[in-house]
Amino acid sequence: MSEYDYDLFVIGGGSGGVRAARISASHGAKVAIAEEYRMGGTCVIRGCVPKKMLVYGAHFAEDLHEASRFGWDIEKATFDWPRLRDIIQEDVNRLEGLYGGTLGNAGVETYKERAELTGPNAIKLASGKTITAKYILVATGGWPAQAGCEGEEHALTSNEIFHLEEKPKSIIIVGGGYIANEFAGIFHAFGSDVTVANRSEKILRPYDQEIVGKLKEMGETKGIKFRLSAPLQKIVKNTDGTVTVHFNDGGEPQTADVVMVATGRVPKSNDMGLEEAGVALDKSGAIIVGDDNKSNVDSIYAVGDVTNRVQLTPVAIREGHAFADSVFGGNPRTISYANIPSAVFSSPPIASVGMTEEEARAQFGDDINVYKSDFRPMKNVLSGRQERGLYKMITQGSDEIVVGLHLIGPESSEILQGAAIAIVGKMPKSVFDDVVAIHPSMAEEIVLFK
Ligand code: NDP
Repeated sequence: MSEYDYDLFVIGGGSGGVRAARISASHGAKVAIAEEYRMGGTCVIRGCVPKKMLVYGAHFAEDLHEASRFGWDIEKATFDWPRLRDIIQEDVNRLEGLYGGTLGNAGVETYKERAELTGPNAIKLASGKTITAKYILVATGGWPAQAGCEGEEHALTSNEIFHLEEKPKSIIIVGGGYIANEFAGIFHAFGSDVTVANRSEKILRPYDQEIVGKLKEMGETKGIKFRLSAPLQKIVKNTDGTVTVHFNDGGEPQTADVVMVATGRVPKSNDMGLEEAGVALDKSGAIIVGDDNKSNVDSIYAVGDVTNRVQLTPVAIREGHAFADSVFGGNPRTISYANIPSAVFSSPPIASVGMTEEEARAQFGDDINVYKSDFRPMKNVLSGRQERGLYKMITQGSDEIVVGLHLIGPESSEILQGAAIAIVGKMPKSVFDDVVAIHPSMAEEIVLFK
């Protein structure tokens, strides 16, 4: 008999926690998991999944508009926000059920309540029950940063945006990152007047800025407004329900139906007994862990956004899986954070892997080559849409190892995933050159760089 109630107690039922719990149980561990809100975490409940469904919904706007160029007459196309919102929530409910089912099938016990640490091996549930575990894994994720200015309570975040009563006629999105640019494309397609307001002049800072420049240019052509170098000053709620946002940029205040703040996500580590259990946090509140996901307390581990390493679902899943294999599977391993492909589901989407041109130049100086393909997708030629795609490949050295690939254009996330294999495999451009193009496609541009 173990001296503990469980071998592993996981706090947080998001992507990382669920994977860790399920795999640990499959390795024979006695596992329980606590989730205070809904099983599935940010990605499933109020992140990647419902967002991608909104992106699908948004695509119809342009397709319906251009349908006549492809011979289709659509009598009267209208958009019904509550219908899409509710259908998406139905699917989110379905997925939440699947997550719960998966855990049950794996033999993981579930507590649908808040859990806090009371010591290195002890947890207290909201119901008052106390539990002991040999290992505790904290996978509580992150939380949208608040506006941090007067009137911040009048701003929505990505937590609330999926539940709007009605589609806003106008929206100001504060921030210039993933969420701001994705929701700018979504609401613009639904017919809202959209302004993206960022504190600095750069949007999507980690991405290749030439590619980002194209997104901004295409966004402006569509009618999305960018108000840059515009730090937030205050948000005022008006009697008619609208909000007025004041910026420290010398410009006029701006009024809209909705203001949404998307200025990053902070680790969700507060008030859960971490300090009391002796766990070291950094100044952002992130749990400090090593490559083995272990904190400074031997029995306490953490994975996913609460560690503020790379805030991406597939990374949290890998960390959770590696934790389970290492601690319970007899296979100690770490994951690689190099060359993580990523995408911004903006309109059009951006997808990227490896070094940007700026990063490659900083590291290798002139020992790089940059290849570009600026093209108009065939579908856009027929539809009359002016939007172009831009693909960039960065190679390094005389053998031209591909160190970066950056795409903007329709379906770029679908196209990049396969190509990322070659970058992780450190292949030279000559291998790309050897690949016969699939014609006609947009993806063929990747093997036709000159
Ligand atoms: P991001 O980190 O992508 O962008 C934050 C933006 O807010 C930047 O433009 C930044 O400006 C600005 N900002 C940061 N701090 C402040 C501040 N104190 N006041 C005003 N502006 C500020 O954050 P998001 O909220 O968009 O997304 C959070 C994370 O979620 C992402 O980093 C990503 O990891 C993940 N995510 C991933 C998605 C995907 O994979 N497709 C989709 C959505 C989210 P500046 O650059 O000038 O500092």
